[in-house]
Amino acid sequence: MPFKLLDFHCHLDLYPDFEAVLALSEKNKIFTLAVTTTPMAWPRNRDLTSDKRYVRAALGLHPQLAVDHADKISIWETYLPEAHYIGEVGVDGSPNFANSLPEQIKIFRHVLKCCAEIGGRILTVHTLGAVKIALDLIESEFPRGRGKIVLHWFTGTKAEALRAVDLGCYFSVNLSMLNTKKGHNLLAVIPIERILTETDGPFAMVEDRPARPSDVESVVHLLSKIRKVGFNIIENNIFANLQTLLNSDGKKAN
Ligand code: MN
Repeated sequence: MPFKLLDFHCHLDLYPDFEAVLALSEKNKIFTLAVTTTPMAWPRNRDLTSDKRYVRAALGLHPQLAVDHADKISIWETYLPEAHYIGEVGVDGSPNFANSLPEQIKIFRHVLKCCAEIGGRILTVHTLGAVKIALDLIESEFPRGRGKIVLHWFTGTKAEALRAVDLGCYFSVNLSMLNTKKGHNLLAVIPIERILTETDGPFAMVEDRPARPSDVESVVHLLSKIRKVGFNIIENNIFANLQTLLNSDGKKAN
């Protein structure tokens, strides 16, 4: 599965031309993880990606929808045995969603417990405004060796990043994150072996339009500038990191 670029967090099903964007990732050999926000979106995403070489679907329950969709956790659980990738899941403590944190925590704790129990899952995790809560839950509910955690669009402190590294987490970084000073500084402490790329399209914007999977090329450029190493070196690192992530549970890289 030699791929050219990696978009490890993209909401493909939220583009008006979902299937065209998906086809473009496939054509351009961009390994793309199609995350979902509710488990009701899983069957369509699963079916549309099942015969693809470069696009994978993830089973999610987005923390910003947790309160409205709390009753959907049982549907999420039903699909868990057939999903290798899990996301978008996590917690959101930003002002608009802090009120629902107790409910979100309950759901995320359950998600982590279920994933740890079944084993071998790769999770793409949202931690906006709730990094400490997320890391505490990961530490207590998700023993190392039971699966892998990728922190998506991480906005915590350097100390929190180092704690996440110690917990075995990976980081998927995007343009919006790297365009801030804080994001730059985080890159100084996160080991290159733990870095993946993402767009978070179509939520994240590039100039005036929603980001698309091919925009990860700019992320690689920016990483190479920040790290002061060549584009190809970063590209190879990302490739190797994904291989390690996919193979680390001893299962086939699918
Ligand atoms: Mn997202």
